[in-house]
Amino acid sequence: MDKNIRIAIIGGGPAGLSAGMYLEQKGYENYVIFERNDRVGGKCWSPYYNGRRYEMGAIMGVPSYYAVEDVEKFCGITHDGPKLNRNYKDSQGNVIEPFARTLGNIIRNPWMLKMKGQLKKFGELLETKYKGYDVNGHRGVAEGRYDGYAVTPGREKIEGENPNLKDLALPFKQFCEMNGVPLVQKIWIGPFTSFGYGYFDEIPAAYVLKYLDFQTCMNFVKVNLWTWEQGTQYIWEQLNDHIKHPARLNSAIEKVERHDGKVFVTVNGEVEEFDKIIVTAPLHIPGKRADGQKGMDEYFDVRDDEKELFSKIDYERYDVQAFLTKPEDHPEISY
Ligand SMILES: Cc1cc2nc3c(=O)[nH]c(=O)nc-3n(C[C@H](O)[C@H](O)[C@H](O)COP(=O)(O)OP(=O)(O)OC[C@H]3O[C@@H](n4cnc5c(N)ncnc54)[C@H](O)[C@@H]3O)c2cc1C
Repeated sequence: MDKNIRIAIIGGGPAGLSAGMYLEQKGYENYVIFERNDRVGGKCWSPYYNGRRYEMGAIMGVPSYYAVEDVEKFCGITHDGPKLNRNYKDSQGNVIEPFARTLGNIIRNPWMLKMKGQLKKFGELLETKYKGYDVNGHRGVAEGRYDGYAVTPGREKIEGENPNLKDLALPFKQFCEMNGVPLVQKIWIGPFTSFGYGYFDEIPAAYVLKYLDFQTCMNFVKVNLWTWEQGTQYIWEQLNDHIKHPARLNSAIEKVERHDGKVFVTVNGEVEEFDKIIVTAPLHIPGKRADGQKGMDEYFDVRDDEKELFSKIDYERYDVQAFLTKPEDHPEISY
């Protein structure tokens, strides 16, 4: 492809800014990132309060976030935040080890040992029977093949046939049950359902394992997590400062039309011409949103087949609330 093609990127969140970085690294430097807000980072939002930053969106990463590591290297930054920890307490507030092989635990949770066995089996199945399950993008899965970049530091391009991959279209619950590992859901549910990503009787295994591949899930289990002292938004602010064309803020796309081999984008009343467009903003938002945010199908000249496809997307509104508490309300806590 001609390296001078003009590319529009909608959204200045992690996906849009990373697209800019990777394009630039491949020699495509003629891109524009449009961001509707007055800040970059999207759902990585770490606003300041009294001189400190607080997380109102994403909080942590894991060592298998190779793309985030690419960004860190590109910007010369690292995950320098506090080490997160987790502990379990009984109803009296005593710290307990629910996963230890003690008699009390085994009596209380007889499935615990079984779960460990199923976890091991699941890891082996994903490596063998489902070889290629973690290829980024899941291209070809529906046809029983894999074709993409491996989730490894080198992100090698791999491809091959594997008819078993068609099973990934099943809801994760069914997928686990048919493979004789139903208890692994108890592990995956923490960083999936409780993080707001959906329910295992509805969400296809492909989608669950795309985000939570085996190694990523194990990083959550082992609390092997990354944080950033100045918040996750800092990563994307840094990236925005390091790419050749920082995002154009306060630029909500009003209209996109595709004809004559070109893409015509209307932003703040002006029409701009591009050769290609990358959309990292929501494709479909059912109903009206109070903040005026629209799905791509409302401002794009979507074809009927695209409309049908996008209408299947459930876009869940996700509100984050922060509360101020006064020390006198909680004398037991030292501030
Ligand atoms: C509360 C919460 C906690 C989370 N915790 C974690 C975590 O700990 N670890 C983790 O890895 N992930 C976490 N996530 C998920 C992570 O934040 C997202 O996966 C990530 O931000 C997605 O990046 P994105 O660029 O695809 O989308 P977004 O971050 O949503 O960015 C999309 C951008 O597009 C812009 N946009 C939308 N419409 C338009 C338009 N018409 N024109 C121009 N711009 C537009 C938006 O303003 C936004 O900036 C969390 C998310 C939330 C909400």
